[in-house]
Amino acid sequence: MFHRIRRRAREREDQREFTELHARLQDQVPHGFGAPAIEPEHAEPAAMVDDFLPPELRVPSHDQVEGKIMPWKQPLVLDGEMAVCAECGAYRDWLILSTCGAIWLRCRAGHQRVETRLDTAWYNRNSGPADATYATFEDCLRHLGH
Ligand SMILES: [Zn+2]
Repeated sequence: MFHRIRRRAREREDQREFTELHARLQDQVPHGFGAPAIEPEHAEPAAMVDDFLPPELRVPSHDQVEGKIMPWKQPLVLDGEMAVCAECGAYRDWLILSTCGAIWLRCRAGHQRVETRLDTAWYNRNSGPADATYATFEDCLRHLGH
């Protein structure tokens, strides 16, 4: 009996340490991850699975990826011809947008047009991995200084 009580006390100690650790990590790990399995009555209901990962760890669904964007400071030569903004004559300092299967060029002045000589494959070859995601296009432009 004595032995059994000691073991229980140790289990409680383990549980307490785990609970403290869990509390410390709560802000760092996805909600629900590492929840004590020995308390099934507190388990998250299956309906909560959508909240399993914090937003920054979720793989964006196709709907959320409105588009990708990268700055392109140097002149952009397409088929031997330099891309020039038809409205203001800008030929460098572009933003290149990849969205909905089309590539857009946006000049420093904010003029935009579809560039049919470029495609998504070209964009993916020339862009690095995305360093950030933005809730809105405007956030993205602000981040890139436009
Ligand atoms: Zn322009």
